[in-house]
Amino acid sequence: MKATIAVLPGDGIGPEVVGQATRLLDAIAEKYGHEFVFVEGMIGGIAIDETGDPLPAETVAICESADAILLGAVGGPKWSDPTATVQPERGLLGLRQHFGLFANLRPVKTYPALAEQAPLRAELLQDVDILFVRELVSGIYFGERQEQGEGDVSYDTMRYSREQVAQVANVAFRAAQGRRKILCSVDKANVLASMRLWRRTVVEVHKDYDDVALEHLLVDAATMHLLTRPNSFDVIVAGNMFGDILSDEASVLAGSLGMLPSASLRADRFGLYEPVHGTAPDIAGKGLANPIGMFLSAAMLLRYSLGLEAEATAIEAAVDAALDAGLRTADIARAGEEIASTAAFADAVISRV
Ligand code: NAD
Repeated sequence: MKATIAVLPGDGIGPEVVGQATRLLDAIAEKYGHEFVFVEGMIGGIAIDETGDPLPAETVAICESADAILLGAVGGPKWSDPTATVQPERGLLGLRQHFGLFANLRPVKTYPALAEQAPLRAELLQDVDILFVRELVSGIYFGERQEQGEGDVSYDTMRYSREQVAQVANVAFRAAQGRRKILCSVDKANVLASMRLWRRTVVEVHKDYDDVALEHLLVDAATMHLLTRPNSFDVIVAGNMFGDILSDEASVLAGSLGMLPSASLRADRFGLYEPVHGTAPDIAGKGLANPIGMFLSAAMLLRYSLGLEAEATAIEAAVDAALDAGLRTADIARAGEEIASTAAFADAVISRV
């Protein structure tokens, strides 16, 4: 197949991991007889420096004519002045909103090869395989807000409509049907009106998916259950802010933030694929970045936007094989273990593809 992929490296370690991901996708294209055309655009801090806009119109146009978007990460200390009028993160939020990417999928699984480094006891981490589905374009991050300005008051608004909850719940139920058929919906229905609507709507949508078992957890309880019984979860659906916080909490189960991929989807096949981590300014430019989160994001792109299941599985298997062979980037290496650079780890994965 021929596919056009918009490539937005962004800032910090973004370009380092994105560069390795396009090499990996080239290897996949060669092996399976596809043609992937990469068209690069600017986003985030670098786009602010060059154009004054974290999401230039040209970048949006590149993405509009692509089949999917592959993104590194945006932001860094250079642009982190809270009083600045434009922030790099606005580029990412703008992209998600422009394309209506309402469902953020973040798989978290544990790797037997890394069990010893994880902060939880090994038996708790056995067979952890969770898919977070986070609502991405509404809720408190997008509600009406008042900055402090000259006054002493500021606020944010958590707002959800039935339709917004239903569309993300449908994605979550469908995902559960393709997995172990258990959905946990997280809310704060005991306190927040918007979260009572969330729970009512999820219960309503459940009527169309009676083969899926539905559980509800309050977000405060969910933070504990994630650490005490992580392998009992299959799919977890949550609103924008709760999903953001819980999926980051769950990232420790995988051993490092650098391991986790994500996909942001709408109802058709178009999507934005990016690692969960940020720009890691502390290690940027040193060849220390773990490319696994980026690679598994590329695998999700092949699976969800291009329908290339075998190719996606080939990437996931190659990552597993490189870990099983003992390759470790600095973030997942134990004291005394040999450290593979970003490029060396990528070479190991690409050669296994
Ligand atoms: P971060 O994810 O960049 O880094 C947190 C820690 O994890 C750091 O110690 C970093 O070295 C490590 N880390 C992250 N990714 C890694 C990888 N692939 N390999 C090895 N180690 C890795 O989060 P932060 O430090 O809170 O944020 C840094 C900047 O990134 C900020 O400007 C923030 O706004 C931005 N950010 C962007 C995104 C995004 O673009 N989606 C997400 C989170 C943070």
